[in-house]
Amino acid sequence: MRAGAFASLVGLALLLAACAPLHRAAPAGQDSMAAECPFPTRYTRVGHGALTLAELQSMAQARLGRLGLEAAWSAPEARAFEDLPEDRERLSALLSVVLPAYERYPRELFARVGLRRLELVQDLRVAGQLRRAMPAVQRDAVAYADIGDPPGAAICEAGIEARIHHELYHLIEARLFGDYYHRDPRWLALNPAGVTYGNGGASAYGGVFHNLGHPRPGFVSRYALYGPEEDKAEVFGWMMTPGYAARVMQWSRDDPVLNAKREFMLALMQTLSQGRMDPAYLDALAHREAP
Ligand SMILES: [Zn+2]
Repeated sequence: MRAGAFASLVGLALLLAACAPLHRAAPAGQDSMAAECPFPTRYTRVGHGALTLAELQSMAQARLGRLGLEAAWSAPEARAFEDLPEDRERLSALLSVVLPAYERYPRELFARVGLRRLELVQDLRVAGQLRRAMPAVQRDAVAYADIGDPPGAAICEAGIEARIHHELYHLIEARLFGDYYHRDPRWLALNPAGVTYGNGGASAYGGVFHNLGHPRPGFVSRYALYGPEEDKAEVFGWMMTPGYAARVMQWSRDDPVLNAKREFMLALMQTLSQGRMDPAYLDALAHREAP
């Protein structure tokens, strides 16, 4: 067992509860990311509804293979897609966001953090709750799921992408520190004196959670207030997603604390990607006006 693996497994159980409000199915199809959806543009649909399940899977494997990643089609916590019309449609929709999200990274980053596979499934359940994503560091994987949003539900696809990056960041953090809840002193020092976080993501339970942007100086989103691990994952997720990335950059101009957090993440991205994710790369991402 690798060093820190036990702590990671313990952390995993906690994280799965903590991160839920951002990732779980919202009541009546409401979407915690819809309030800040940067554009209504739909992501380019893969498969066009004409491919068999095996063809869709083969196409996804080919695209992930170029990044040095494997696709896995099952997870202990979820159901596999079947070769049925509705399942093909749902897998196609999931891939339409997951694949471009991952294709924003150079493959060096995945090798560096030991990510080997994406588990692409449906009805992912953790402690009885439907979840869109979860890190599975013990399997060198992140799982992403279709959770049965009603057809035509107003789900913000860019918000789905932001969650995809957010969850990858939790895996990165666990790999770097052996702990999902590492209280990184360098990060905490970026906050002004007196700033305290909430009691982790789990405290966002109750009612419908709306993840509003820049709720106070130094914080990219409401969800970032819940704990330093969520703050880091939110800055990372927003910086990596077209539409959201531009806002982080804009808010950072007049918010030195948020700007310091943005620069912290930029430095980490550069390190993890062997310099490929540099300021010009993130600048280009922030200037994209569509997925
Ligand atoms: Zn989280």
